[in-house]
Amino acid sequence: ANDLPAGPRLVVGLGISGRAIARFLRARGEAFVMADTRSAPPGLEAFRADFPEVTLHLGALDTLDLDAFAEIAVSPGVDTASAGLSPYRHKLVGEIGLFRRYCHAPLVAITGSNAKSTVTTLVGEMAQEAGLDIAVGGNLGEAALDLLLDRPAAAWFVLELSSFQLESLDALDARCAAFLNLSEDHLDRHGDMAGYRAAKARIFRGAECAVVNAEDRATWPDDPQLPCVRFTRAAPASANEWGVAVPTGAEEPWLCRGTEGLMPVAALAMAGRHNQANALAAVAIGEAMGLPWAAMRQVLTRFGGLPHRGEVVVERCGVRWINDSKGTNVGATLAAIAGVGEGLAGRLVWLGGGVGKGADFTPLAPALARHAREAVVFGQDAGRLAAALGDQLPVTRVETLAEAMRRAAAIAEPGDCVLLSPACASLDQFPNYLARGAAFREILAQGQEATC
Ligand code: ADP
Repeated sequence: ANDLPAGPRLVVGLGISGRAIARFLRARGEAFVMADTRSAPPGLEAFRADFPEVTLHLGALDTLDLDAFAEIAVSPGVDTASAGLSPYRHKLVGEIGLFRRYCHAPLVAITGSNAKSTVTTLVGEMAQEAGLDIAVGGNLGEAALDLLLDRPAAAWFVLELSSFQLESLDALDARCAAFLNLSEDHLDRHGDMAGYRAAKARIFRGAECAVVNAEDRATWPDDPQLPCVRFTRAAPASANEWGVAVPTGAEEPWLCRGTEGLMPVAALAMAGRHNQANALAAVAIGEAMGLPWAAMRQVLTRFGGLPHRGEVVVERCGVRWINDSKGTNVGATLAAIAGVGEGLAGRLVWLGGGVGKGADFTPLAPALARHAREAVVFGQDAGRLAAALGDQLPVTRVETLAEAMRRAAAIAEPGDCVLLSPACASLDQFPNYLARGAAFREILAQGQEATC
């Protein structure tokens, strides 16, 4: 790993990663100028209070002399093209690039359109269960550079990485790099699926081993030489593949590697078929990192999932209300609808809407027609959603989440399930998906939606 080039640095973006970069550079005693293209970015006052000594530039970057900087560190939230940074490509480094320059411990890197946080958390729990002192974060929890400052002696690092964090990376050199799945998301930023996939596939650069989805070719590395372990929700196709099968002598499906059984599917604490895939991905990574099966089994029997991801909030009047606010794209919501809808015989009431990020909503139509009695759509892209669903099922259009929940309560009958899995970002009506999920819980806690 090279050292920082000599000379002053520019850090662009006042978000979580940008502030982590700033803290890291300050801890190392490096001088830098901070910039944000917005004139009043969120977190501005907090930054001024924390970094009174740092020069801050707000607004378009073209009024800065960018040639004067030896390196430009950009937050993953910054679109380098529209910020006018394309001519300075050779000087750009991202938060994860900086992390890699200074982190000398083994790295597990996890990406995908969905399930990243779930799998990252599982791997972290498994390593801890095995008695290892490891650091977990990245796109989830603590930013990578904060982790590196706080936990310099960690045995290894497990990072959840978004396409934004990967897109500017030259080499990551992960001990194990996992690409879980690929479905449409963030096309407003990456342009098309090829660009989005290419950003994510950078996770394999310099990796020692890959963990990928047997059912999704787009996750496979381009380099055929890279040792690769696959997982599938179906039966494993080879002795080295993880999947679901009935092992010899058993009577029910187990999570297996080849024909070797790890544990019965029924013993998994997480619900839904999509979570079987998530468990298998975590186990494949854990094994690649040398974790014992017993520790991994322990965690899978106890870990019931993260909040806002298929979380059952309450069962009231025979109706289950499920918070999947983290379902922020079509692929996630399809997995949630199929996972929750399985065995419900069409008794799902689906709540969705928000900011669609330019996605094609039409794949939702057949899934909802199969599993749902009604779709209730709200928020900025409600009209586009309603149009995509056509006449496949009854669709009610409202303005807000609260109104959507009142409508759901009015039509739901005992045995039904109300699923908030919006297939959209929340930013039109909420600060983030957490606030949207919290609002869902709060409305239920106050009984505002209740009709019985
Ligand atoms: P990420 O960190 O990638 O957003 P999470 O673990 O937070 O992933 O899960 C986000 C959402 O993805 C869940 O709320 C659920 O709707 C969906 N999801 C979970 N597992 C899968 C899977 N294996 N494939 C597709 N979607 C999934």
